[in-house]
Amino acid sequence: MPVSERRRSFFGWGYEDDVVSADELGWFERAWSQLFHVDRFDPAPFPRESEITLRKPRVSVPASLKAFCTEDKYDRLFHCYGRSVHDLARMIHRRDFANPPDVVAYPRDEADIRAVLDWCGANDVAAIPFGGGSSVVGGVNPPSDDRYRGTLTIDLQRLNRVLEVDTTSQAARIQAGTLGPDLERQLKSTGLTMRFFLQAWEFSSLGGWIATRAAGHYATVYTQIDDHVESLRVVTPAGEVATRRLPTSGAGPNPDRLFLGSEGALGIITEAWVRLHRRPTFRSATTVRFGNYEKAVAAVRTISQAGLYPANARLIERDEAKFTEAGDGRHDILVLTFESADHDLDPWMNRALEICGDYGGEWDRDALAAEDSQRRGAAGNWRDKFLRGPYLREHAIARGVMRDTTESCITWERYMDFQARVKDATLRAIREVTGRAGTCTVRFTHLYPDGPAPYFTWHALGDKAKLVEQFWVIKAAASQAMLDAGGTITHHHALGRDHRTWYDQERPPLFADALKAVKQRLDPHHVLNPGILIDR
Ligand SMILES: Cc1cc2nc3c(=O)[nH]c(=O)nc-3n(C[C@H](O)[C@H](O)[C@H](O)COP(=O)(O)OP(=O)(O)OC[C@H]3O[C@@H](n4cnc5c(N)ncnc54)[C@H](O)[C@@H]3O)c2cc1C
Repeated sequence: MPVSERRRSFFGWGYEDDVVSADELGWFERAWSQLFHVDRFDPAPFPRESEITLRKPRVSVPASLKAFCTEDKYDRLFHCYGRSVHDLARMIHRRDFANPPDVVAYPRDEADIRAVLDWCGANDVAAIPFGGGSSVVGGVNPPSDDRYRGTLTIDLQRLNRVLEVDTTSQAARIQAGTLGPDLERQLKSTGLTMRFFLQAWEFSSLGGWIATRAAGHYATVYTQIDDHVESLRVVTPAGEVATRRLPTSGAGPNPDRLFLGSEGALGIITEAWVRLHRRPTFRSATTVRFGNYEKAVAAVRTISQAGLYPANARLIERDEAKFTEAGDGRHDILVLTFESADHDLDPWMNRALEICGDYGGEWDRDALAAEDSQRRGAAGNWRDKFLRGPYLREHAIARGVMRDTTESCITWERYMDFQARVKDATLRAIREVTGRAGTCTVRFTHLYPDGPAPYFTWHALGDKAKLVEQFWVIKAAASQAMLDAGGTITHHHALGRDHRTWYDQERPPLFADALKAVKQRLDPHHVLNPGILIDR
């Protein structure tokens, strides 16, 4: 019933036949050994389908839905979890598949979606929208709530087509289940591209990006998916919502905004018109080294306020740059790129480098002169590790290595204090809970004139038997520190079930009440993604 013959790994990243080479794994093992001062790891074996017995389905769909629904073991297994650290730890170290969905639906069109939602509403069955399943916040996990008789996951992978391309206005109408590579493949002949390259691009969908307000690789201007969406179609249990396709509108609160970030709790996004770009033909890229972090931050702030709008401006703290072989450990590294399909970028790059120079930055002149500079040298090393990172996650977890990220957004004047407090809280929690030092480093993923989106990466070596609990203590300390220091609980990883505690602290109470009223109107039986955004 899934569209691809190639099966995805039910517990990890990629397809079942994807392999991480011994060389690549060896490189990471050596890096982890140095990080934690251990000689060797003793990885837990990965789970196999044959060793797992799933609970019998608690509910069965009627004959009218059977053409696109299944109770097949692999399908239920694959839809048990998203891809957070604790999801992986539960699968690899606990073999915990105790709460699978009872049924998985692969709707072919909106009529199928309406039919399953009606059935779920009439039968008290929770309905979980599922795009690529790359949620890192518990967004697709079946709820453990005995008010529901069962769970049905609605996997949108069959809604995978680019339906229309408007080359004049540079936009396309695309079905929500389309994964990143399929989307770009279908656009290729038009010469246009969405260029929304989040790290999980290979295995995440347009609908998932919209539902979670994901952010792609552009550091400025087109940062979050919000900036790409022209209009939406959404199927809710109460009926359909179709918004008007417009560049923008001043007609009251924007209905698209209600569904951007709705995380499957208000309706199922079935398609969207999104903005496209011409493929960039002009590119200018280099890396800049800074000996002083505070000055590097000031340089990046000045660039962000100078109207230069770089496509990439990742300021990577020195320890993280060293780990990814992008730096020598004595310098913070700024990966800086401009791109355009229209004009030469030298004036923009030269002005940005002039600003860097004012703050003591030294740039790589060879990279600047090279055709493919973003793929070479420090920038290339960083890019390779970034692209391969997702494939290494299950190998890290199998060895007890937790590598997680917490990300936020904060205004410039509070940033230095903010990053110090988050790092301090995270490192303290790692030491307390694992009994040994870990690391916590920061880079900027996105830039706004009034503040950066800092992205913290932490590493801790835990006790495999207690990894889930240890993870939660560290995650909670980092999250609370982000809120207490004035930031948001997430810039783009979404809320899911995992961030609810902090989201509830962040949102205004009257807004929460208004959202509850909206949920009640659109999903009167509260079947859509229970526990997300609003409680029953
Ligand atoms: C290794 C890794 C790297 C990542 N990198 C990034 C990154 O660079 N930027 C970023 O923003 N995020 C990143 N993420 C997080 C994740 O990829 C994003 O949240 C992504 O947008 C989820 O898309 P998906 O299709 O996989 O959605 P899913 O994981 O399937 O679902 C996510 C949420 O959206 C809901 N949903 C899915 N489809 C629909 C729909 N059609 N209608 C309504 N609700 C729906 C689900 O119910 C769930 O609540 C990363 C995750 C991993 C594992």
